[in-house]
Amino acid sequence: MPAGRTLVVAPNWLGDSLMAQPLLTRLRAKQPSMAIDVLATPAVTPVFRRMPEVDQVFEEDFRHGQLGLRRRWRIGRAFRGRYAQAFVLPNAWKSALVPFFADIDLRVGYVGESRYGLLNVTHRNPTASREMPMTRFYAQLAEPPGRRLVDELPAPWLRVDPLAAIAAKVTLGLKPAARIAALCVGAEYGPAKRWPTEHFAELASRLAAAGMTPIVLGTQKDVPAGLSIEQLSSGAALNLAGRTSLDEAILLIAGSAVVVTNDSGLMHVAAALGRPQVALFGSSSPAHTPPLSEAATVVYRELSCSPCFARECPLGHLRCLREIAPAAVAELALGRSA
Ligand code: SF4
Repeated sequence: MPAGRTLVVAPNWLGDSLMAQPLLTRLRAKQPSMAIDVLATPAVTPVFRRMPEVDQVFEEDFRHGQLGLRRRWRIGRAFRGRYAQAFVLPNAWKSALVPFFADIDLRVGYVGESRYGLLNVTHRNPTASREMPMTRFYAQLAEPPGRRLVDELPAPWLRVDPLAAIAAKVTLGLKPAARIAALCVGAEYGPAKRWPTEHFAELASRLAAAGMTPIVLGTQKDVPAGLSIEQLSSGAALNLAGRTSLDEAILLIAGSAVVVTNDSGLMHVAAALGRPQVALFGSSSPAHTPPLSEAATVVYRELSCSPCFARECPLGHLRCLREIAPAAVAELALGRSA
């Protein structure tokens, strides 16, 4: 295969992976004939498979925290002679190893963990990265180091077959015509980004009373919250957390009348699918990682302590999320619903 392809080493987080899509769009626009392949973990491959800019997705399950030197060397060797350039999106040292072992001519990324040598086109780490939208943070890598990106960026979007979205409903025991309210209750980052389960339960009861079918979506880690919401809402919410693959969750969100999310990966999925959405922000800032969709409404209390970016509330009260009333969220969700 000629050395005319681009390799992108993907972020490890779902939301970040969606925020990386404008970079792929820019790379495509700059070099339309250059195919883009993505190396990613199973936690994020379903979204890259739904991005029109991507040609091939290589799934590798690098364990979090493990160096996996031998494995990365083996993959790098297999990639030799295949790529003209590589973009390394995670900041970790180990993430730059595959392009280095593959001997790719241009290896682009932020300096990150002092990756001089591993990368040979290095961008300085932004000093206030939390103030910079993540889409811009990644898209900047398409420019030469030092040249500031000024253009508007496209919003992320994912391809979905509407018939597949209906089929997913049926597979999971839902009626094809059900007006689903998808409640995305997780936030991998920590409890300071999770709206309380009792609030989600009250929301589910209110939405069910208005004729909607609330379902809880999330990973295996969200099962206790999902079960608790199902129980506290006396069965108004159906817990599907831990019972769907990520791809099924994407299809269910695509087929939802409205989505209510924490600031999480699924919030960005809902935005990229253009679904009506209410996004609840706690310790983080909507300036940094907003849902990039005109169909999204952000609810953010903006207290004097906001945003603290903590994983757990350092003040112990989590007022930023507790003070977002379920009745108000229900009203927004019903008003927004398709
Ligand atoms: S310190 Fe303030 S912003 Fe941070 S989690 Fe607690 S209530 Fe929320």
